Parts: sequence; C-alpha cells; structure tokens
Amino acid sequence: MSDFDYDVLVIGAGPGGYVAAIRAAQLGLKTACAEGRETLGGTCLNVGCIPSKAMLHASEYFEAAAGGAMAAMGIKVKPELDLGTMHGQRKDAVKGLTGGIEFLFKKNKIDWLKGYAQFTSKDTVEVAGKSVRAKNIIIATGSSVTPLPGVEVDNDKQIIVDSTGALELAKVPGHMVVIGGGVIGLELGSVWRRLGAKVTVVEYLDQILPGMDGDVRKDANKIFKKQGMEFKLKTKVTKAAVASVKGGGKKAVLTLEPAAGGDAETLEADVVLVSIGRRPNTDGLGLDKAGLALNQRGQIETDHDFSTQVPGIWAIGDVIPGPMLAHKAEDEGIACAENIAGLTGIVNHDVIPSVVYTWPEIAGVGLTEEQAIEKAGGEKGEVKVGKFPMMANSRAKTNHEPDGFVKVIADAKSDRVLGVWCIASVAGTMIAQAAQAMEFGATSEDIAYTCHAHPTHSEAIKEAAMAVTGKPIHI
Ligand SMILES: Cc1cc2nc3c(=O)[nH]c(=O)nc-3n(C[C@H](O)[C@H](O)[C@H](O)COP(=O)(O)OP(=O)(O)OC[C@H]3O[C@@H](n4cnc5c(N)ncnc54)[C@H](O)[C@@H]3O)c2cc1C
Repeated sequence: MSDFDYDVLVIGAGPGGYVAAIRAAQLGLKTACAEGRETLGGTCLNVGCIPSKAMLHASEYFEAAAGGAMAAMGIKVKPELDLGTMHGQRKDAVKGLTGGIEFLFKKNKIDWLKGYAQFTSKDTVEVAGKSVRAKNIIIATGSSVTPLPGVEVDNDKQIIVDSTGALELAKVPGHMVVIGGGVIGLELGSVWRRLGAKVTVVEYLDQILPGMDGDVRKDANKIFKKQGMEFKLKTKVTKAAVASVKGGGKKAVLTLEPAAGGDAETLEADVVLVSIGRRPNTDGLGLDKAGLALNQRGQIETDHDFSTQVPGIWAIGDVIPGPMLAHKAEDEGIACAENIAGLTGIVNHDVIPSVVYTWPEIAGVGLTEEQAIEKAGGEKGEVKVGKFPMMANSRAKTNHEPDGFVKVIADAKSDRVLGVWCIASVAGTMIAQAAQAMEFGATSEDIAYTCHAHPTHSEAIKEAAMAVTGKPIHI
C-alpha cells in the first residue's frame, strides 16, 4: 500500500459513513473512520431517526391509552406519564445501537480515529493532532440544524430549542410553537402534543410538508388539525426572545408576520422548536486544502459514482445534494465503497422513499402528481392516478384507523408506475413494496394483479393500482 496509512478513510460515522466503512472493510480495503462525536452513528442514531422514533413510539402508546383509542376496543386505562422513564428508554435505544456500530467496527477491523478531521492536502487529514494519509477519502460529515436569523437556540435553557433540544425536554410544555411544518417539526410536535402540550406550527409556505404530493399535504393538514395541532400558514417568524413571566419562570415571545408582508403579531410559548431545515457540515473541514469547492447551497457535488472533482476524494449522504435521509446516505455509502473497490455501485435516486412517522404515518416514493404532470410538459392526460381511501380497507377500518389513502401515479401510455403516496397507520412499511415495484419497472397493472394477503393495509396499494384503470373492488 506504499506510504498510505489506509486504502479508505471515511470522515464521519453517520449512516453514510459507518456503512461505507463497513462495506469497504468487507471488500478487503484497509479502512479507518474519523468521528468527532463521543459515539458512532451520526445524527441518525444519536439525535435523529432513532431517539425521535423512541419518543414517537412511546407517546403513541400514551395517547392511545389517554385519548380513548383503546377504550373504543374495550380497554379502559388511565395512563400516568413518567417522562423520566420515557426518556430513559430513548437513551437506552441510542446506547444500544451506537454501541452496536462500535462492535461492528471492531468485527470488521475498522480503526475509529477519535476526533474531527481536517484536510491538510488532498490525500491527508489531521485528526486529534495526528496526520493520516489515505488513498481514498470519503466525506460523510452530514448536516446540522439551519439557524433562523433573529431566533437564538439554547438547548440547555429548554425554551428555544432545535430538534436535539426538543428530544430532551424535562417537562411537557404548556404551549409549544414549532417553526417549520416539515417532517422533523411535525414528528416532534406530535410527540409533545400527545403528551399534553398545545402545539402551534408556524409555516412560511401555504401548506405543510413541502416536497410531498399535493393531496397528501392537504389531507395531512386536515388530520393534524383534527388531532388538535394549530397551523399558522403563510407566516414567518422574524424574532423570538426569552422574557420573564410575572411570578417567576420564563417564556418565549415570538414576532410573526404574514409571509407576504403586513402587520406583525406576537405569540407566547413555553417552548419554541426551530425546525426549518438542515445544512451540510463543511465548516472546519479544510476543503480549500483539498482543492474542493462547494456549490451554491454549500453542498459537495459528486458524479453518479460519488467521486468529487478531486481524484481520490468521494462524498456521500447529507453533505451532497438529494434528500437528507438516512437510508439514502446508507445506500450511497455502500455504492461508494463498491466503486472504490472497482465494482459498480449504483443508487437509483428516482426511487428513494420518504416517511413521516406521525400518526397516521405518511410515506411516498417517486414523483408527486404535480411533478409527473410537469415532467409530461403540463399535459394532465399523460398521467393516470388511482386513489383508494383507508376507510375502505378492511384491516384499517377494523383497527379503528380510517384516516388516509393510497395514491398510485402512472404514465398514461406505458402504465409504468411513477410514484406512490400513502397516509396510513403503517405507511412507512407499506411504501417498501411500492419502492421495490418501481425499482423493477412495474406497471400499475403489475401491482393490481399481484396477490396481496388479506386483511392487510397493503391491500390498499393493490386497490389504488386497480383504480388507475378504474377497477377497484371495494369503492
Ligand atoms: C430529529 C431528526 C429525525 C430524523 N429522522 C429521520 C428518519 O426517521 N429517517 C431518515 O431517513 N432520516 C431521518 N433524519 C435525517 C438523518 O438523520 C440524516 O439524513 C442522516 O443522519 C444523514 O447521514 P450522514 O451519514 O450523511 O450524516 P450524519 O448522520 O449527520 O453524520 C455525520 C457525522 O459526521 C461527523 N463529523 C462531521 N464533521 C466531521 C469531521 N470534520 N470529522 C469527523 N467527524 C465529523 C458528525 O459528528 C456526525 O456524527 C432525521 C434527522 C433529525 C435531526
């Protein structure tokens, strides 16, 4: 290996980086991974996907018991919230999974270089005062919370927090204001609403869940409203300040303005969650020393094989363009390592599912109806849509889960499926079959004529596919 310390050095041990490191090691490459955090697993395992799902899962049970859903099935309970234990099980989940990655690193003989890496040249980085040279360097530094001008986050004070702070609240806020109606805001807002908070979501755009299918956005808004969330759409937050309350304690006072301009109003909150998006982590990486430039959005551009403009430097995950999702980062990690090893690693970016883990769940893959029509040059007749309500799905109805629908979008001429969107209690699980069908180039007829087990929520996907040609059975 001449004078290189490693064949592959990965910077960042999130789902992109740790998976890339494991795949590289499996392929016989001498591999190291630099990670500055105390534990492996990145945003996803430490402060993202996993802890948020731990709180979502637990709060879902609490609400089912408190809100009458269980009583409807003949189970009468009066739940008592033990928030300390709920947080404890979240921390246990994180500890178990991050420790699991450490075990996998040892098993695959991957060196964990503890510290933040900085390029000193195109093939050398410095980590914790040590210089390390590698034939290939994969940048997998991920992303962090985008700040909002005029709103200063201080997670320790637990008044104006970001997603990391919102996972750790020591008590249920009376009123929580969520700035940003995207996935993370709606998930964490749901957690605290279920546990008893009044939740108001302030969104700059005219609808929540930007990027998702129009019908899904509208229906989701209705469902969340029915659950008690309040929405202030087309509204921007220009300032948030912490103020003392008479008789002790502190509150946040927000200044809101119509997005289009107009009179300002104020809104008080016990806790404000700032969740307006995430931005790539590139500060302090010394990219200039490596000769790497960023695009206008601060991301590292790559070719389809994840190589950058500098030979030997690769990039994956949240730091490159595309949806900021753990499974996208993981698949890119595998493909990138395979390309470094001389294999052909491919990620089909047209088929990346996305899921909102609220109740019900919301999931989609491929094009929205709006995107499909736009791609067809605005010709609505080029796109066929089949919809099926969960209310008419026997399992969802029996389980008292009537909200939502499945929507299959297909090319009118070829019948090839272009996108699938669902709102259903188990939409996150259902969407996998749609992604697989699309990966295999399925038509709506292929899905419609595939035998689905009864009674399952997935039958709604079959019926929505049947509806593309106007032949669903149960509506
Ligand atoms: C609250 C929340 C919930 C989420 N839920 C989901 C979900 O349910 N499903 C989903 O798919 N996605 C979810 N996401 C998004 C998901 O976490 C990210 O898309 C994913 O973690 C990106 O992976 P990554 O490997 O690119 O980067 P990251 O996971 O961000 O990891 C990057 C790592 O690099 C390290 N690092 C950065 N710079 C350096 C350096 N110079 N040297 C050494 N180490 C460095 C960081 O410490 C970090 O650990 C969620 C995010 C949040 C915040």
